[in-house]
Amino acid sequence: MNENYQKFLSYQERIAAYDMAFTLLNWDQTTAAPRGSSETTGHLLGVLSGEFYQIPTDPEYRKIVEELSHDETLAPDEKELIRKTARSQKQMAALPADVYAASIELGNRSTHAWEEAKKNNDFASFAPFLRDEIEMTKKIANYQNDTGMPIYDFILNQNEEGFTMEKLDAFFGMLRERIVPLLKSCEAKNGKIRTDFMKKKYPVDRQRTFNESLAKHIGFDLNRGLIAEYMHPFTTQLHLDDVRITTYYDENVFDSAIFSTIHEGGHAMFEQDRDRKYAFVPAAANSMGIHESQSRLNENMMGRSLSFWKPLYPKLQELFPENLSDVTLEEFWRAINRPQAGLIRCDADELTYCLHIMVRYEIEKKIFMEDYPVEKLPALWNQMYKDYLGIDVPDDAHGILQDVHWSDGLFGYFPSYALGNAIAAQLYHTMAKEIDIDGELEKGNAEAVHQWLCEKVHHKGGIMPVGEILQKVTGEDFNPQYYVDYMEKKFTALYEGLE
Ligand code: ZN
Repeated sequence: MNENYQKFLSYQERIAAYDMAFTLLNWDQTTAAPRGSSETTGHLLGVLSGEFYQIPTDPEYRKIVEELSHDETLAPDEKELIRKTARSQKQMAALPADVYAASIELGNRSTHAWEEAKKNNDFASFAPFLRDEIEMTKKIANYQNDTGMPIYDFILNQNEEGFTMEKLDAFFGMLRERIVPLLKSCEAKNGKIRTDFMKKKYPVDRQRTFNESLAKHIGFDLNRGLIAEYMHPFTTQLHLDDVRITTYYDENVFDSAIFSTIHEGGHAMFEQDRDRKYAFVPAAANSMGIHESQSRLNENMMGRSLSFWKPLYPKLQELFPENLSDVTLEEFWRAINRPQAGLIRCDADELTYCLHIMVRYEIEKKIFMEDYPVEKLPALWNQMYKDYLGIDVPDDAHGILQDVHWSDGLFGYFPSYALGNAIAAQLYHTMAKEIDIDGELEKGNAEAVHQWLCEKVHHKGGIMPVGEILQKVTGEDFNPQYYVDYMEKKFTALYEGLE
């Protein structure tokens, strides 16, 4: 093999070794470490980070990547990996060290200010920090943007390469036109959906039994992964043979653990299934949109379908006969899909989720393209929730202050969540042409869906650009039409035959 490329891989391996250690230490801090340990552990982690910083910034490493950038003998996926590494090295070098340090420091201060502001429902106390975060984002973009793109396009492109305002305006425009009225017509018929059994108690030990078998059912390899319990569900990977997810059991909301297990399981399988050639490059390092497409496809398109539940629902009934013995499969399926506009993005159902993202996208666009005044943002937020979701926001804690992202300078990040849904629908549409999805799911063979994703997406999907994956697998570029069509079809069927 190419000697330079071999050297590059050994740098990648060293970076992965440090990442593994940091990830395990963070996992331990989150799930197991004594509460009093955080300050000293945090200090020592800082020391370790300083040591680690030497590796990706090593001039020798930069030289190797620079030479490989002109190496025509590399395979396409190797070239792509080098291109991405060169791009991030260039951006890191363009940013003065003191600006970088100031941005980290500002992030810590504003996140603290946001926590207080949310607790006290006091946007005014957070506003100066938000203003500073916006200025800092512009400043960083000024150093790094050598593309000539307008600032918000540059920010979006940093988060999701190839996705700019032009594509996102078309996407969100379609949602505004077709999903906003669809939600209204669904809500008018919601009274016909039976939900009494959703509010009963489902003991946690039996939920645990069900969720473990569910994770196996969808194809999560528990020999190379595990499920732990934590109040916020997330996925983390030490490497492709150790991928961990968390779930949270609440005896009053039993479907929450079920769908977070499937969601995080979707993320986890992407990490487990990637090509061993890139064992040290996590799929999460590529595009967040493609990663989210895998969790959403599993959770919503497959995991909330009638055919998926046909073989599983009798098992759930057996575990909870006191709640479910008189509930039919169709009644269960309608209840787990019933859409209802709410205030909080994290709790949103499949139909309303993207509308929450649309609000954040439109506000960010106004911030960066129109210099919209920060003090007027809460009123703008509330108006958009009224227009798109049809609800009144009672206070800023349940409105503009609900998400942590902006306090940490994470602008341009939200659209990826929505793109994930649309990418998932596009992939699912192609999958349905190649395999009999419903037939396989009804037989209890969710593995058929997993294998298709593994071969078409997971294997190389952590390396290749989203546009290229979509082009190769579906034969066309990103097309949100499939997503809106899917939603209209699904939510029309949901109310059929209900009187
Ligand atoms: Zn996710």
